[in-house]
Amino acid sequence: ILIVENLTKSFQSSGRSLTVLDDVSFTVEEGESLAIVGPSGSGKTTLLGLCAGLDVSTSGFVSLAEMKLNAMGEDDRAYVRNQFVGFIFQNFQLLPTLTALENVTVPLELRGEKIYKEKGRELLDRVGLGDRMDHYPSQLSGGEQQRVAMARAFITSPKILFADEPTGNLDEETAEKVTELLFNINKQEGTTLVMVTHNLELAAHTERILQIKGGKLVSDKKSSEVS
Ligand code: ATP
Repeated sequence: ILIVENLTKSFQSSGRSLTVLDDVSFTVEEGESLAIVGPSGSGKTTLLGLCAGLDVSTSGFVSLAEMKLNAMGEDDRAYVRNQFVGFIFQNFQLLPTLTALENVTVPLELRGEKIYKEKGRELLDRVGLGDRMDHYPSQLSGGEQQRVAMARAFITSPKILFADEPTGNLDEETAEKVTELLFNINKQEGTTLVMVTHNLELAAHTERILQIKGGKLVSDKKSSEVS
């Protein structure tokens, strides 16, 4: 479902070019679960964004659901994202002026679907926020905001779900709940799961672990082979 080939990304900063990802290649099969680990600043979030079509690479390519993202303009990439991709951001990125329910249903409204409120309520119930639907993000705890962000990512039944530090800001109990939800979606609905995490316990739940160091892919192993 995802092919990444010779992916390189550089940013220009104060007249200098900074290479953040250097010749990264890997493929992900449909239904697989995979964790990307590595030190802070090694390029994990950048890689996730490129895979999801949020940004484009400097060279190399990403093919998602058999579509080459590099060859597309922003509008077409936005269409691909809305059709195939769920993304859970490190800092949630909820819209502050919308309620939990309104945040969750944004992707369906973008698709022009009619019965989106019902689906939104159903999903918020499923993530344990049935009694928080009309709350604004500022009225929700970090863990609750994270679950709203998850419900928003699930609502389109994406083929592939990208999650950036899904348990990063959560206490242990909430992190466990969030982990269970992610892997339920992966196992029961066959949604491909690609996550970035510092949490090695969480990474060990996935089938495969990629390690990034200084922008390079230094290891790609089954999680059972990673000690
Ligand atoms: P962390 O684990 O701390 O979240 P990370 O591995 O996800 O780190 P990235 O966020 O991908 O790392 O950042 C990798 C490097 O790229 C960092 O040095 C960062 O400063 C740089 N970088 C990221 N985005 C940009 C940008 N838009 N412009 C310039 N430099 C950037």
